[in-house]
Amino acid sequence: MNDGEWADSSTQNESIALKHEQIVSRLLTKVYDYVALIDLHKNSIYVDFDQVSNTWDWTNEEHNYDEARFSLSDHFIIPEDCENFIKNSDRENLMRQLEEQDEYIFTSHFLYGDGTKRVKMFHYYYYDREQGLVVATLEDKTSLLYKDPLTGEFTRRGFIEAAEEILKDPLQTEEFAILYINLKGFKAINDLFGAEGGDRALRWIPRLLRQSNLQPLVIGRLNADHFACLVDQQNIDEEELMDLLHLTYEANNRSLDLYGVCCILKISDEDRNSSVGNMCGAARMALDYIEDEYVKPYVVFDEKMRTQYIERTETAAELGAALENNEFKVYYQPVYDLKTGKIASAEALVRWQRNEGNMVSPGQFIPVLEENGRISQMDLFVERTVKEFLEQRFAEKLPIVPVSMNMSQMDFYDKDMMAAVLLDVSNTTVPMDFTRFEVTETAYSTVAENNRNALLDMKRIGVKFYLDDFGSGYSSFSTIRDFDFDVIKLDMGFVQKIGTSIKADGVVWSIITMAHTIGTKVVAEGAETQEQVDFLKDCGCDYIQGYYYSKPLPEHEFAELLNKTA
Ligand code: C2E
Ligand code: CA
Ligand code: CA
Repeated sequence: MNDGEWADSSTQNESIALKHEQIVSRLLTKVYDYVALIDLHKNSIYVDFDQVSNTWDWTNEEHNYDEARFSLSDHFIIPEDCENFIKNSDRENLMRQLEEQDEYIFTSHFLYGDGTKRVKMFHYYYYDREQGLVVATLEDKTSLLYKDPLTGEFTRRGFIEAAEEILKDPLQTEEFAILYINLKGFKAINDLFGAEGGDRALRWIPRLLRQSNLQPLVIGRLNADHFACLVDQQNIDEEELMDLLHLTYEANNRSLDLYGVCCILKISDEDRNSSVGNMCGAARMALDYIEDEYVKPYVVFDEKMRTQYIERTETAAELGAALENNEFKVYYQPVYDLKTGKIASAEALVRWQRNEGNMVSPGQFIPVLEENGRISQMDLFVERTVKEFLEQRFAEKLPIVPVSMNMSQMDFYDKDMMAAVLLDVSNTTVPMDFTRFEVTETAYSTVAENNRNALLDMKRIGVKFYLDDFGSGYSSFSTIRDFDFDVIKLDMGFVQKIGTSIKADGVVWSIITMAHTIGTKVVAEGAETQEQVDFLKDCGCDYIQGYYYSKPLPEHEFAELLNKTA
């Protein structure tokens, strides 16, 4: 018999004893709301509300485990979280999780009688697998909501509350401002110095702010590399700010220039009672007004920005209803084959028909939809509209061309939406090759690998993919090496520079040549002039999409155009 197959009982007992010891020592390092012993087989729980002692003799009463958790969910768990809590604490689920990992953790959101919310962590681990005994602890983790464990500063939520408390205090008579800071090219630090280096750099930022004359009253890391601080307006010295925003990060004998951009939002007396969350949102939006961070890395929030921010928030509110009210329309922009001069395909572009006739272009509402998480719903609508259009014409034996649809980066994170699209496209009655999707290189490269599986699934059934806006992002070449895109769309920026310099022309020529070398076709986007079209033809470009041939057309006009080509 193989020695390792049957552990002898003495070592088994030793390992249990060791495990018990580990559990006890772990329990003693912290303060818990309660420690409980659960007998999974008997469905009972013994709760110890006092501090854990080294000798637990579970002298407390025995309760029914299921009754206990239902009563907990009725009295303390916030309604939105009840279902989750019941699911997570279910004995069967517990057992399954514990069989896999020996321990199982989940958090739940509590509501106290006085209306305060808490975040509590349940931690279960096997005490005795044979007997089905499990130790469970409950810990208050609410502070994590307010304190950023990485920097020790406030989180977004903590910052907002702490800043509002100061602003609402009538005894604080200074004039305040919020500085909203975003680090540029922070990703490079992670690439160059590793995640550890990135973390160190993030901890360094609040330290620099504290050492400066700004003397911030509150600092928060709102997310990733976005910081905010509340300061006395008097302490802002624009020269010093310039220095603060250009940093040289040094480690392991290497150094990297790091640039920050900043919005200074001065808080007027009337605004002192406004939401700090909104102020941060507005300041963040205002960063877009910084044209060149090397020349002037900060912007002072003004009326024009305020108006834009209000418009955006209004748009966000209206957009919610717009989806329900069918106010979105799909336009089609034909793509022409340069050799035959015929329509080869089309791109579906969404429009928002806001209050009768007024067409809003996607540049104005797509960023808002991406921010409020509804972009996938809209993309799915576009996909279904296009599918219906093609299927209907196909059934009526009218001419059709392949149509490509834009996929937002956010779609990749929405598993349900991706599954719905996959189901739709695999059930289409038109040839599979007529469904195509465009993915920008920025989207492709920022989406984590496991979230891209949906692309491969679709590619396997014959859906084609276009690499959109090629050349406008950072990682063009690694993207085309990584994934087998069928078509590259040359970014409009290159096309519109044709004829302005030998260099500009050279770049266009070499991208087209490169694409052909790896067996990929090229669509040039945004061609408007005869000169551009001629040059693209000379370069051997395959297709053109641009105002030179046609603008995006409403469905009925596009249908007429297709009918004429038959
Ligand atoms: P894109 O995917 O790069 O789309 C091409 C844009 O270039 C379209 O703008 C099109 O109207 C415009 N265009 C085409 N030819 C010319 C030209 O010759 N000159 C000029 N100046 N412009 C030209 P549009 O329709 O405003 O769309 C803007 C962006 O919005 C799109 O850029 C795309 O990123 C996004 N978008 C549009 N529809 C959708 C959608 O259904 N879903 C998602 N996620 N994004 C969409
Ligand atoms: Ca596109
Ligand atoms: Ca494009």
